[in-house]
Amino acid sequence: MMRDEPTGAEMYQAALDRLPSARREAQAELDRLCAALDRLTPPARRRLSVLQVRCPLRGCDLGSVYEMALRGGGHRYVLRGRTSGGKKKNGLLNWAYPDSFYAPVFYVTGCSHGMAKLGRGWLLDCVGSVRGWRREGETEEQFVSSLPPAMAQGRASRVFHPDGASWFPRYSAVLPSP
Ligand SMILES: [Zn+2]
Repeated sequence: MMRDEPTGAEMYQAALDRLPSARREAQAELDRLCAALDRLTPPARRRLSVLQVRCPLRGCDLGSVYEMALRGGGHRYVLRGRTSGGKKKNGLLNWAYPDSFYAPVFYVTGCSHGMAKLGRGWLLDCVGSVRGWRREGETEEQFVSSLPPAMAQGRASRVFHPDGASWFPRYSAVLPSP
């Protein structure tokens, strides 16, 4: 029997095949982790959430970072966010991205109040502050006091807000109503 329309799986494979191989590998890993998250119940998913990024104006959800254990030890950190238009925005935060191309520098997410460019390095710093990634020999106290105030606050609440350089409010959201 002849089939005219490609199946979803075929379209997915074709889209992967068009990517450079290193990026294809990262995308496949990200898709696998997101599918695993989608299979969980909401409470189980919440248990894997390390932190949330919220809009500075009204606290809208701009994205969450999930910690997923790898079979051989270690973790992958996955951002799941959305754009102001409601499009899903996922990112694999820790991956051996080759220098030559396509290490994502930031992920654009947003809400009705503005747009955020969430830096991959910044998100990993947020994870590190929550998880207490300390330097060798550093005490908990030294670690906490070394954090910038916004990071220390985020560590306590597990909620982080993009700063002025990475948050672009909509004019209509910041201008006073006439
Ligand atoms: Zn908002």
